[in-house]
Amino acid sequence: MKEIAQFKETILKNYPRCSEKDTFQFSCHRHVKCFNRCCADVNIFLTPYDILRLRKHLGVSSQKFLDDYTLIPIDRNQKYPVVLLKMSDAPGKPCPFVKEDEGCTVYENRPWACRMYPVGLASPKDDDSAAEGKFYFILREPDCEGFNEKKEWTIGEWIEDQGIEEYSELGEGFKEIILHERMQDDKPLDPKKMEMFFMVCYNIDSFRRFVFESRFLQMFEVDEFMLEQIKTDDVELMKFGFEWLKFSLFSEQTMKIRPDVLEAKKRELRAAQ
Ligand code: SF4
Ligand code: SF4
Repeated sequence: MKEIAQFKETILKNYPRCSEKDTFQFSCHRHVKCFNRCCADVNIFLTPYDILRLRKHLGVSSQKFLDDYTLIPIDRNQKYPVVLLKMSDAPGKPCPFVKEDEGCTVYENRPWACRMYPVGLASPKDDDSAAEGKFYFILREPDCEGFNEKKEWTIGEWIEDQGIEEYSELGEGFKEIILHERMQDDKPLDPKKMEMFFMVCYNIDSFRRFVFESRFLQMFEVDEFMLEQIKTDDVELMKFGFEWLKFSLFSEQTMKIRPDVLEAKKRELRAAQ
């Protein structure tokens, strides 16, 4: 985590700040000498949407995905839990999804960070995805031969070509949580809220059980259409989860408590007086 903070400082100080109109020369394909070299020993933070895409691609439960393919670093100063893609134990620590001849075996569902390279996104604010002051930069890894190729892109064209827009759109709800003013306090979330954050953001099957198999639906009103969607659609459930987090972490009125539950609570409070 410390290295990441230092790297960010270097970017803010030394890297030219680019917009979507700026151009760069780059191409990555199986005939470059360095093919697959960058898919090893690398820190890739996974977003909630990255995990939905990858676990669906692999056909595994979200718990199995977390167990087999991720690391969950613990840092006392961390404000909320983060999840990293776990590199394999083989020599050179290759990504579990890279194959010598094929390259990335999850290519169509590769994470946001893999799509972005060699374009980086930074912001002077705490989170690099913060809109304010956001800028792009070009990350030129010394061994990357892609920069010797002739193809020229604007950053905007790269973003479109790599299918990044969908990831950005579906990352909005997550950003609203991690950039929430209450998250800007120095204090991390308390352990219960940490657990809730983790479940909603990274373990969608567990969150679905929480909604459908706990007292959740006895406590909150959820309209029938939404209920049908979130039963089977992970993306809709993820979006619903972000609304739930605003309620449960920040006490925003994003969920509707059932009138009978409210009434019972009022009676309980009166009886306690
Ligand atoms: S997910 Fe694919 S692109 Fe990303 S590091 Fe692994 S093999 Fe490389
Ligand atoms: S090092 Fe650069 S050119 Fe080589 S495989 Fe990775 S991204 Fe492509």
